Amino acid sequence: MSLPRIGVYPGTFDPVTNGHLDIIGRATDIVDKLIVAVSINTDKNPMFSATERVKMLHQEIELLDLPVNSSIEVMLFESLLVDFVKSVGAYIIIRGLRAVSDFEYEFQMASMNARLDPKIETVFLMASDQYQFISSRFVKEIARLGGDIGYFVTPGVKKSLDSHLLGKIKAR
Ligand code: ADP
Repeated sequence: MSLPRIGVYPGTFDPVTNGHLDIIGRATDIVDKLIVAVSINTDKNPMFSATERVKMLHQEIELLDLPVNSSIEVMLFESLLVDFVKSVGAYIIIRGLRAVSDFEYEFQMASMNARLDPKIETVFLMASDQYQFISSRFVKEIARLGGDIGYFVTPGVKKSLDSHLLGKIKAR
């Protein structure tokens, strides 16, 4: 019997968007087990703590309409990505590609990871048409300015964003 094919989908997920969830759903079709790896060390200065980001992912993955045999785990990681990937017995990194603008960064990261460990493959999934333009960064920006983010994130994530921003206003 062959070993299960494990894939790691790493990111900041600050917060998880409908674009991320689409990639998660599609990735489960190509791997036997998907590990969504939430980065603790990020220079992106996240709005949500790593634990909050994990919690939101858990909640939203639970609501996805996936085949019963899909296996998804959400984990935190703070080591070098290739070391984390090896530590969970995986050799596939899943990344989403939105526009040409993602390409250079993703290409560089995949090439450097391949140099660090040639056995690791990065697999890119093209963003679906309807989610192409969604980014966590703009979702936060729109939410801060009171815009409607209902199309970009789930109601649960919207609620978390609203209460986070409300907390900030109250704290002023
Ligand atoms: P990172 O800090 O690693 O870029 P992100 O949470 O911003 O983390 O993104 C994680 C992965 O998800 C990246 O490969 C990114 O290109 C991909 N991604 C982000 N938004 C979308 C989207 N709307 N559609 C498809 N892929 C996406």
